[in-house]
Amino acid sequence: MSFPLIDAHCDTVRLFASRKKDYDFKRRNNCGHLDLPRLKDAGFLLQIFALYIEEEYKPVGSLKRALQLLDLLTANLARCRNETTVILSRPDLSALKDQQKIGVLISIEGGEALEGEVAVLRMLFRLGVRALGLTWNQENQLAVGVGNGSGGRGLTALGRRVIRELNRLGMLVDLAHINERGFDQALETSGKPVIVSHANARQLCDHPRNLSDRQLKALADNKGVIGLSFCPAFVDQHQATVERLLDHFVHVAEIAGVDSLALGSDFDGIESVIPGLEDVSALPSLVEGLGNRGFSAQEIAKITSVNMLRVLAENLPA
Ligand SMILES: [Zn+2]
Repeated sequence: MSFPLIDAHCDTVRLFASRKKDYDFKRRNNCGHLDLPRLKDAGFLLQIFALYIEEEYKPVGSLKRALQLLDLLTANLARCRNETTVILSRPDLSALKDQQKIGVLISIEGGEALEGEVAVLRMLFRLGVRALGLTWNQENQLAVGVGNGSGGRGLTALGRRVIRELNRLGMLVDLAHINERGFDQALETSGKPVIVSHANARQLCDHPRNLSDRQLKALADNKGVIGLSFCPAFVDQHQATVERLLDHFVHVAEIAGVDSLALGSDFDGIESVIPGLEDVSALPSLVEGLGNRGFSAQEIAKITSVNMLRVLAENLPA
């Protein structure tokens, strides 16, 4: 049985920006974790592409960098017009199922790109961006990242305004990388289900990027989803394996329910990989692993696409 796949986070756009010319999204590559042929073979329905703002562009130059990366993504997708389609609205999402195209949803990872202006967010929306990771690991104008600790401060007044505007425009709020206080405040503020695009369960791997059971339950109350990441350091502190990653799926299902689960590989953003999960080609075998762990076909469909489709439909503009 095959399942159409949705993945909530990859950093492949950074390969477009790399000076190394040996990567070509349209062709099958020996480097990188995904490209068009490999996404097709694995049975992808939709991939969320993050525009990650590198540290050297923070705080000054973040917006320019976001625009450069968006331009690179746009140029690459223009070469794959017949095979990909950028998802901007609920009708785009509905049409996806009847097309042979892979959906692309554009996200920005790091609220620095707004350079303190909600007006910038509205213009990024007009350029096709449909999700925003409020922070990376650092503190910025919107909130505090996990790299700055979980004490005291969280969301700023601007951060709250940005969440309300994301809700109003029809963009996803992404809470990967935010500290615990900001996470709680963002859930209080958002009137829509949020995503945590790439993280895992802290109960199984004590890493600040992972969510505690309390956070997982709060996410379930919000009807949001967590895309479980394939980053070895978030899966196990000693030895990350596919079986250990499957433990995270089982744990999140137990704590938050299967409706909260999604995929969030972080492919092309991770420096090392879990043996057996070297690139997107391995996803069908991960899906098989979910079956071996007792998830039913209906539950696997929820994890691989249905949950994320629901959250997208509840957020994207009509
Ligand atoms: Zn990230």
